Amino acid sequence: KITIALVGRPNVGKSSLFNRLIKKRKAIVDATPGVTRDRLYGEMEWEGKTLTIIDTGGFLPPDEATPILPQVIIQCQKAIVEADVIIFMTDVRTGLTPIDVEIMKYLRKTQKPVLCAVNKVDGEKQLQDLSEFYALGVEKIWPISAIHGHGIYELIEEALTLVSAEETKEEKIPSMAIKVALVGRPNVGKSSLFNRLVGDERSVVSDIPGTTRDTIDTILKYDDKTYLFMDTAGLRRKTRIKTRLERYSVKRALKAIKHTDITLLLLEAPEGITDQDIKIINYAIACGKCILIVVNKWDLMPTTSKFKREYIENIRQRLRFASFLPVITVSALKGEGLKQIFAMLNTLYQEYTLRISTGQLNRFVEEIWGKYQPPLYQNRPIKLYYITQVDIKPPTFVIFTNYPQAIPENYKRFLVNQLHQLGFKYIPLKLLFRERR
Ligand code: GDP
Repeated sequence: KITIALVGRPNVGKSSLFNRLIKKRKAIVDATPGVTRDRLYGEMEWEGKTLTIIDTGGFLPPDEATPILPQVIIQCQKAIVEADVIIFMTDVRTGLTPIDVEIMKYLRKTQKPVLCAVNKVDGEKQLQDLSEFYALGVEKIWPISAIHGHGIYELIEEALTLVSAEETKEEKIPSMAIKVALVGRPNVGKSSLFNRLVGDERSVVSDIPGTTRDTIDTILKYDDKTYLFMDTAGLRRKTRIKTRLERYSVKRALKAIKHTDITLLLLEAPEGITDQDIKIINYAIACGKCILIVVNKWDLMPTTSKFKREYIENIRQRLRFASFLPVITVSALKGEGLKQIFAMLNTLYQEYTLRISTGQLNRFVEEIWGKYQPPLYQNRPIKLYYITQVDIKPPTFVIFTNYPQAIPENYKRFLVNQLHQLGFKYIPLKLLFRERR
């Protein structure tokens, strides 16, 4: 059974499309108490199949206190869980709005396929106004008229095609897999480490066609958890003979980082952290990824804990604003520290997908800015009204304020540091500011 969710800001025409799709059939309101009062469910027949349609805007309460964006994002979150495919609706008559852009940004990160429909294209005239919607960064725009019924057949056909494509893909990649990019300079021991990880008798391993073209990924099951190591062809070899062709390619590493949740950056203890490594870290942070720094060849180093402490402290100094990143030491040669790697990958992933309730966030933050206020802006106070978490992977927070552009960098950093204390010990966070007067 296939479920399609309609999402978008209020008044783009979700209900009109919903009503047209389910025709005279009655909308079913889910009876689960307290859970689904904000969504309408309807069924439609489509070429012998029964499709469920969710209208997320159904009973959106006119709530003055909460800004529209978080409301819509909450709707999206719920719809995404239930839907196989999402139709994101915008409105040609109002044109592209900043809220549309934010919704799209959010939707882009889901694993579910998204179609972008521009509604109220009732005639030739509106077709000319479509081009601005490509700013959403989508490959294709689907012009429709929910009232007149234009473009709807094509839209639903495409939605179904995407769902069946998704089903074939899902058989290959378990959706719960923690995706990891193992990167590092040549000879730090990437293949040695990787072969250790897959060689562990507790792990179950299979190679699958890669996430990116012409590559191979490895799925590894360890202690009931599934990991997807991306682009592993160069790491999996039985012999220790290296071909010169397998040179470390930075471009390849960056691509892997972009497509995964966690960057496992491998260093070797004698050489330590290099400028190249710092660049990789900065790139991963800019992409909103988790980073785990693993120092290999620890068997070559002095065994005292004092040495280890100082060594790690040195690395942290080099990391500057990212000094919260986890650093662990291993020896691929001796097989030491492998468990730690899995434990830390799990911790990182938990933080990466952690959601803090708006109530908890505001209580925490109110206390903070009760004590430390931002400086005045042109003699007027900067007010921070409200904070909400709008996303995970990475956890992303929005603060509504009267002067978003006036908040000094060091105050932003201060706020981020405070947010880290809410259970985000090791991962980069994203904090955005939106205007509200
Ligand atoms: P890659 O280029 O990052 O894949 O590195 P390799 O896995 O090919 O390892 C490079 C060299 O480092 C090889 O000679 C390995 O035997 C050696 N090596 C790898 N891990 C360790 C380790 O934990 N300790 C020591 N002493 N040598 C290691």
